[in-house]
Amino acid sequence: MVKDLTLLGSTGSIGAKAAKICKLHGIRVHALTASVNYELLEKQARYFKPRKVALLSENSAKELKLRLSDTDIKVLSGIEGISECAVLEESNTVLNSIVGIAGLVPTLDAIEAGKNIALANKETMVAGGTLVKKLAEEKNVKIYPVDTEHSAIYQCLSGKKPNSQVKRLILTASGGAFFGKKRDELKDVTISEALNHPNWSMGQKITIDSATMMNKGLEIIEAVHLFDVDESKIDVLIHPQSIVHSMVEFCDGAIMAQLGPVDTGLAIQYSLTAPDRLPSFYDSLTFEQITKIEFLKPDNDTFDAMDICREAIRRGGLYPASLNAANEMANMLFRQNKISFLDISYLSAKAMEKTENKENFTLLDVLAADRIAREYVKEEAIKR
Ligand code: MG
Repeated sequence: MVKDLTLLGSTGSIGAKAAKICKLHGIRVHALTASVNYELLEKQARYFKPRKVALLSENSAKELKLRLSDTDIKVLSGIEGISECAVLEESNTVLNSIVGIAGLVPTLDAIEAGKNIALANKETMVAGGTLVKKLAEEKNVKIYPVDTEHSAIYQCLSGKKPNSQVKRLILTASGGAFFGKKRDELKDVTISEALNHPNWSMGQKITIDSATMMNKGLEIIEAVHLFDVDESKIDVLIHPQSIVHSMVEFCDGAIMAQLGPVDTGLAIQYSLTAPDRLPSFYDSLTFEQITKIEFLKPDNDTFDAMDICREAIRRGGLYPASLNAANEMANMLFRQNKISFLDISYLSAKAMEKTENKENFTLLDVLAADRIAREYVKEEAIKR
């Protein structure tokens, strides 16, 4: 079990829950980082008394520095400050719950410094999975999934890599806010409709990704990297009740599933305690109260994001990085009311087509592909 942790993205939905889990189990948190939320970061810092904290925003960092001036906690800022926290010697594990591509560099820095990673930042794996895996192997560090589906699969596989006895991985998906709708019903949907997720309470970016099904597509790519399996061996089932968090089918037809309450907390906790288990905040599932449990085929004609993601990982190279960046930008522009809901996957696919691919790529290539895809989506959005 992890005893000494650095928590990146500690004020977001996953990070704040992770902080509560650390409190519950007495895990020492030596560094905390966030993007802008200095108020919550101050509270967390006063509780955990970390050596360092960092905020991406310079202004927020200035404010936090004033507020923490009665302590000896070092307040850092910018991406350099976050990276300094990621490599802090006191921690042997870094839980990364930064949202988006911003999580990639700190993950690589932490691995370089020999830290195990509890990874909630799926964009890290989507855009830079090849680099992350190679470095993790070199440095002999472990990557524990925090995403509920991947945690479920990891648990079904008892932490081992799938071998020839594994027939397929089955990711479950709630279906998001618009499950059951057809394309013509999605043309004019609003931001608040898209943010109205039926089951999960999460941050805004991922909730929109759930509505477009891009989240599940990104999770396919994440699973390819985390479990070293081909995308063709990963199936997706819509499971509106979100009780079965994902499954593994073996060659003899046996299926292992992980079930639990609809909450990301269990997966967060397991990433810090694996292979052991500790009591949690969560109540047991009451099977008697589950009136319905369904599994349905996804409607890939209406929600094309998963097919786009499959195409990206089949092509490999820099395609997933471009796609991820285009989706991040399009997701944001939709939330700013600048493009329509259906534009998100449309522009993401178009941006991917503009990728100048490289087979052997570096971090700089990933960041360049990311920048180009974002620019492209921004320019296309203005024309719309
Ligand atoms: Mg997930």
